[in-house]
Amino acid sequence: MACPYFIPDVRRDDILWPHPARLPLGAGFGGCCGAPQHAGERPDDDHLRDHCNLGYARCSRLPADRAADSVRYAVALAGAERLVVTYVFEREHAPGQCGHAEYDCRAKNFSVPHPDPRIQKQLECYVGEYLARQPRQ
Ligand code: SF4
Repeated sequence: MACPYFIPDVRRDDILWPHPARLPLGAGFGGCCGAPQHAGERPDDDHLRDHCNLGYARCSRLPADRAADSVRYAVALAGAERLVVTYVFEREHAPGQCGHAEYDCRAKNFSVPHPDPRIQKQLECYVGEYLARQPRQ
């Protein structure tokens, strides 16, 4: 479950993640904060490891009035030509908004990008890691 405001942009294998393959996005990522008033700020490595990549962050940048504490991703359908990824927003450990995104493995893109660019970037990272572990023919 990643922080819903996290905008991952690069895989960071140089941070000491306890279990990198078990991380919500499939690996540890560096990136920017996308919270209001903090857009473009780059959290330090400790913060990336303990908060941005994990959700339910104890973070002063998080807006008090927010719809979600974290976003959870899972592959619901894995075909040769397309993946369907479900996502669920959580607030105080209760599920909230959910949906799915379809990825075209041949065209290498999502059929409909998520309207929130932060979530779209997380989807791209999640799918990239999934396909790196389970490449298509
Ligand atoms: S954990 Fe904090 S710094 Fe990281 S993306 Fe979320 S709000 Fe921004």
